[in-house]
Amino acid sequence: MAKILVCDKISPTAIERMKALGHEVVVKTGMTPEELIETVPPFEAMIVRSATKVRVPVIDAAKNLKVIIRGGVGIDNIDVDYARSKGIEVRNTPAASSPSVAELALGHMFSVYRFIAASTWRMRQGEDFKKIKKESQGRELAGKTLGIIGIGRIGKELAKRALALGMKVIAYDAYVTDPGIEGVTMVSFDELLSQADIISLHVPKTDKPIIGREEFAKMKDGAVIINTARGGVVDEDALLEALDSGKLYGAAIDVFVGEPNPKPELVNHPKVSVTPHLGASTNEAQERIGEEIIKILNEVFGS
Ligand code: NAD
Repeated sequence: MAKILVCDKISPTAIERMKALGHEVVVKTGMTPEELIETVPPFEAMIVRSATKVRVPVIDAAKNLKVIIRGGVGIDNIDVDYARSKGIEVRNTPAASSPSVAELALGHMFSVYRFIAASTWRMRQGEDFKKIKKESQGRELAGKTLGIIGIGRIGKELAKRALALGMKVIAYDAYVTDPGIEGVTMVSFDELLSQADIISLHVPKTDKPIIGREEFAKMKDGAVIINTARGGVVDEDALLEALDSGKLYGAAIDVFVGEPNPKPELVNHPKVSVTPHLGASTNEAQERIGEEIIKILNEVFGS
């Protein structure tokens, strides 16, 4: 059985199951890169979420490592090619959190359209009840057009839920031409920008923003943008301009450039609903991530 180093928080059930399978499990979270380099040598498996960075020096120190398992989707915190070049497998649990992220994106749509986050904040500040009510006439999601950029695992989960709410769903994807969901119409990027009432991004991290000044200009007046994908897929300065100019009705952001220190102008913006990267933070997603980790360990080390 294997020596497993758990570097970020994972479900306690998964840890119990690993031990029951006979693995030796050490949980050590919040290590500095130096501590990690010192700790990693004897371990054959390493389990991380997004917080721990597995860069070249850590991989060089990991002389016994057979697999790095990322509980979650994005593997940008791991030097994947380098690890693989050293014969170390890099695996993730891509589907485990999709329903949770889709539900959060929907929650944010309701929040922006019905001023839920904004009202909570204003009422707690002691603002006049009637004034808030007067200034918070919302919109219904039903009948509106949702534009999904990136119709992969999360995009599809969101599409199904939006259709059930009576929304019209259009999607643009750089690679997928048929999402296999009745009721979703694939369109070009520009068509999506000009037709959608709400745009939700579900693409991997990109080198440069997919949505910037030019794209905001092509959107409907009063559009809403939701980013639960990765910080940087939306240009945050351009987003602030589009909010302040009145081009956008609102925005919702779960993922920020510079996490865990998001731009205060965005966090404090009255038209923005924010969460601190909570997409996968549900009991159900954590349990499913744990189950997938056990499955990977069984594949790599035998059950
Ligand atoms: P996925 O790989 O299943 O789907 C991504 C889709 O985007 C694919 O269909 C792909 O063809 C498409 N795509 C790639 N580049 C594109 C581009 N430039 N333009 C248009 N389409 C493009 O991924 P997923 O599991 O659905 O995850 C989507 C995003 O959600 C990722 O960025 C992931 O990191 C993020 N995520 C966030 C949280 C959170 O806590 N907020 C949790 C899980 C995942």
